[in-house]
Amino acid sequence: MRNPQLNGDGSLQHLLTIEGLPREVLVHILDTAASFIGVTEREVKKVPLLRGKLVFNLFFEASTRTRTTFEIAAKRLSADVINLNITVSSSTKGETLLDTVDNLSAMHADMFVVRHSSSGAAHLIANHVASHVHVINAGDGRHAHPTQGLLDIYTIRHYKKDFSALSVAIVGDVLHSRVARSLIHALTTLGAPDVRVIGPRTLLPTGVEQLGVSVHHDMREGLADCDVVVMLRLQNERMKGPLLPSAQEFFKSYGLTPQKLALAKPDAIVMHPGPMNRGVEIDSSVADGPHSVILPQVTFGIAVRMAVMSILAGN
Ligand code: ASP
Repeated sequence: MRNPQLNGDGSLQHLLTIEGLPREVLVHILDTAASFIGVTEREVKKVPLLRGKLVFNLFFEASTRTRTTFEIAAKRLSADVINLNITVSSSTKGETLLDTVDNLSAMHADMFVVRHSSSGAAHLIANHVASHVHVINAGDGRHAHPTQGLLDIYTIRHYKKDFSALSVAIVGDVLHSRVARSLIHALTTLGAPDVRVIGPRTLLPTGVEQLGVSVHHDMREGLADCDVVVMLRLQNERMKGPLLPSAQEFFKSYGLTPQKLALAKPDAIVMHPGPMNRGVEIDSSVADGPHSVILPQVTFGIAVRMAVMSILAGN
């Protein structure tokens, strides 16, 4: 089947998932993002790359960091940005997703940034819109969150430089995490040799080894000598029925405390996509401690989203 993300010449038409994207495309996005870091730090934080373009932020599910940083990224590129919080708008009146998209397309949309609770929503839109319109998946169900995966590897590259000898541990609710899936695809594509997932059996997808990761149920074993620890939130809103005895029990076994972090390398970094639940998956002393790069992840997210938008727009 044709990869709907890529044009015939291999350039990006949409960004829907990291799965199947060639290494060169990932590296090009990371390098472009690096070139935008300077822009985001100077006094006049704008470049004209998307001047005259109309970007719709189409969020059918709540978001703080992702929606805001997409908006900032589009504005830094000089685009016009319209934010739509559809949970309180037309879908509550019964309009279908594609009818909403058609109406916004009739307003001359150039780009849609889409978040939806259903896996595949962004693909559906990408297959529907005219060929000059670009679609970015900002999180679809538990399937993919490609710009989060990209900002995660940007952060890892910033602090660790080289992927070829890297041990990365991803901890917690991998089962419901689109962030984990996107990050695993990114890391394996970039050649990270040791990617581990750690969690209780009930929160790891069956067959996750097939993505090229090792599976651990014990933090002592899973965190040993790793360079990067990525903590995930318990995604209670996606759980059908009780998968855990309690949040306290989870914290005891899998919550990242200074004692557990001491199992990793002394210069290990700690990441979290947010929103963070202190005392559930991470202790405050770790979240706010010297190993944490959780806030830099947010800042890098702006440059990474600028890079994706400007590459899609053909720059
Ligand atoms: N913000 C991330 C997401 O949208 C992670 C999370 O919600 O836990 O998937």
